[in-house]
Amino acid sequence: MDNFERFQTFVVQQAAKEGPISPPITGSAAFSYGDPDTATDIFAGRAKKPLYARMGNPTLSYLERLVAGIDQADGAVGFASGMGAIAALMSAFLQSGDEVVCVGGLFGGSFAFFSETLPRFGVQTRFFAKAEEVQISPKTKILYCESVGNPTTTIVDFAKLGEIARAHGLLFVVDNTITPLLFEPFRWGADVVVYSTTKIIAGHAQALGGAVAYKEPRAQLLERFSFLGKFYENLGKDAILGVLKKRALRDYGMSMSAYNAYLTILGLETLALRIQRVTKSAQRVAEALRDVAEVYYGSDERYFPHGIGPMMAVDFGSEERAYRFLQNSKMLYITANIGDARTLGLHMESTIYKDFTPEQKRYLGITPGLVRLSIGLENPDVLIEDLLAAAKS
Ligand code: PLP
Repeated sequence: MDNFERFQTFVVQQAAKEGPISPPITGSAAFSYGDPDTATDIFAGRAKKPLYARMGNPTLSYLERLVAGIDQADGAVGFASGMGAIAALMSAFLQSGDEVVCVGGLFGGSFAFFSETLPRFGVQTRFFAKAEEVQISPKTKILYCESVGNPTTTIVDFAKLGEIARAHGLLFVVDNTITPLLFEPFRWGADVVVYSTTKIIAGHAQALGGAVAYKEPRAQLLERFSFLGKFYENLGKDAILGVLKKRALRDYGMSMSAYNAYLTILGLETLALRIQRVTKSAQRVAEALRDVAEVYYGSDERYFPHGIGPMMAVDFGSEERAYRFLQNSKMLYITANIGDARTLGLHMESTIYKDFTPEQKRYLGITPGLVRLSIGLENPDVLIEDLLAAAKS
């Protein structure tokens, strides 16, 4: 059984066999513990009951179980957004003086977080285009990459990064937002996987959200991050959950609401079906657009045997032609999102990457004619006809 079939079966079978099939939305900010002993146990992490909605709620717990199932992880922690998940992970694991190494293309928000925000807290990031170029210093603690670099679909050598993480005792983080089920980060050495669930996991522009999925931490990490070792003594394979909640979520409060968790669950139940369909359509769109523009839509048999998902970048050579394409398509929704049920498009340089320096834009592959597309569930023939006509206009 392939990964899509496995997850599709798992995800729809999680509902209780008696009672509501659609999970209840627990709309409470606080939970009554009943007696003082139970309160003590909940705060000590011994009783798995809700503490306070900033730290989680039952609807979110349900979603977290489903998200963990995407990668057969030991668990997952949900956050208010993808950036919330990334910020929580970094602030939970890093301290002033530490360094991060990022490899390959990066989403603009993540790039800004690593290059502008973390330095304000004394954490420096170095960026490398390829795994082969990576240099690690004694201060490096985290190795970070995206499964498919946003927006030009760069693909890095994950196995090599996994080796580097082991050789230097680094936490290896992969943002798998664009390719859930298509790519298996844990298989190639990732220690944690980050998702913006806002994208194809929720899938209908209905809810902002994020998550970090984890497995039992490697012995090497328990030593390198001493606080992780302490959480491991109490929580075992869920040590990373403890770190995320007690060293970030509790204090920063980037918590996902029960309502957003509910909406995300509804989307997730069809993720496996949608991602296969949009990937097939995207492959066809990329092929068709290659006749009229430069298309960035990578492929890699080893890491992505079923394709790289819905996102591609198309370079029309000039801003003017890129604008014309966006204006003249009758089907595109012009928006800063990806992974939606609808096909989306956005000019990169004038929007997400507007404030970046020429050097940063060069590193990220942002050119004046670049448009990011995210292919949706429309009929691919109708879509291709519309996009080709817009490209030739
Ligand atoms: N990671 C990737 C690869 C993204 O594309 C995005 C958003 O575009 C994010 C993270 C941030 O997610 P969110 O918008 O949910 O904060």
